[in-house]
Amino acid sequence: MNKNIFDKIESILYMLELKNLTITVGRKRIIRNLNYSFSSGKTYIIMGPNGSGKSTLAKTIIGDPAYKLAPEGQIFFNRQLISSLSPNERAKKGIFVSFQFPLSLTGVSLYQLLRIAMEKKMDPLSLRKKIDAYAQELDLNKDLLSRSLNEGTSGGEKKKLEVLQAVILQPKLAIFDEIDTGVDIDALKLITTFLEKYKRNTTYIIITHHDLILRYLKMDEALIFVNGQVKYTGNYELVKKIEKEGYRHFYERS
Ligand code: ADP
Ligand code: MG
Repeated sequence: MNKNIFDKIESILYMLELKNLTITVGRKRIIRNLNYSFSSGKTYIIMGPNGSGKSTLAKTIIGDPAYKLAPEGQIFFNRQLISSLSPNERAKKGIFVSFQFPLSLTGVSLYQLLRIAMEKKMDPLSLRKKIDAYAQELDLNKDLLSRSLNEGTSGGEKKKLEVLQAVILQPKLAIFDEIDTGVDIDALKLITTFLEKYKRNTTYIIITHHDLILRYLKMDEALIFVNGQVKYTGNYELVKKIEKEGYRHFYERS
């Protein structure tokens, strides 16, 4: 096959390619020789025991400088090498990461933050209307939209604010680290239904400990992290199996 056509097909198939990633924090090597490719528009679930490197991977993909990538490692986003770009440059290319513990922003509200981010894409009034409508769908108190972001908000409210941002920004890739942690069952239903409804062509990578989110969100593939490696991949059956049996079984076979 003609090489150009082959490259084109591959780029449509894979939007995020992790090649030979070895990641250290301080002196600790957390991820070793990780290789994985993510396809466009799919929903991936990442599971794994505490400390297996799931959050480390999310932070490495957005380019947190504390997480050092060994020189042989490469991250391609839509076939562009992004591993030496700053987090801001990666965000501009369409990568959004919602962290396990979203940070507060003193003096900046969600309205203000999104107005800056969407400056050239939507007029302020339409944007505000859209934010209000989404907040209502998520059963989010309107006061939270004009207060300092994430200050004095509950765990569930923080996660709702995160998904609202993700859906407004329409990134090509959205990574949610423990979207279900600290979220009650009603809020979880709203959050996951919302993410599924407004998915469009975004690729989702969702780090979770439970299969509950999959009641309302369709998944394509599950990756099981053990000791900084993707040990297994599978479908919903694999997630169910982990929910039932835990990770012991995987350690025994690893
Ligand atoms: P997971 O998200 O799978 O629970 P993490 O990626 O948060 O795991 O952590 C993997 C390992 O790396 C853990 O042993 C953790 O203590 C260590 N680690 C992660 N971030 C840091 C950091 N900033 N400084 C020191 N150690 C870290
Ligand atoms: Mg984590």
